[in-house]
Amino acid sequence: SSEKILISACLMGENVKYDGGNNALHVKILEQWKDEGRLVLVCPEVLGGLSTPRHPCEVVHGENRVVNTQGEDVTDAFLKGAGEALLVAQKQSVCMAILKARSPSCGKDVIYDGTFSHTHVRDSGFTCKALQKAGITVFSEEEFVEAEAFLRAKEA
Ligand code: SF4
Repeated sequence: SSEKILISACLMGENVKYDGGNNALHVKILEQWKDEGRLVLVCPEVLGGLSTPRHPCEVVHGENRVVNTQGEDVTDAFLKGAGEALLVAQKQSVCMAILKARSPSCGKDVIYDGTFSHTHVRDSGFTCKALQKAGITVFSEEEFVEAEAFLRAKEA
């Protein structure tokens, strides 16, 4: 049977982004994976109970904490969302995840620093970390070549 793939819902056109929009990608391989029934869509921030639209959030660099532009601490929602996304990933036995780059939930390796000044730091979002900790390989939507190769190797 086809290996399943967890994917950030906003990449598939769901309007779950903080501003009420999405990050729809029109990539051929995504269309194929969708047709093959492989894709499992999650938005950790929605699963964590945050509303859409919502104030932009960033992880405070060096602290295990998330704040929004109003200065509110939203860490609990991010922790809950990461836990829920991991549960879905495990229930569906996904072989990998493709997550939206630079998001405080989904970002892998590079996110913003918590000062809302467009400053990048080397770190990952809460959900990316939770998935990786559980042994699930994560790619960003900027790594389709790598993700395809990984899937091919899995199914070889
Ligand atoms: Fe997209 Fe992830 Fe942000 Fe949800 S939490 S809008 S899936 S990047």
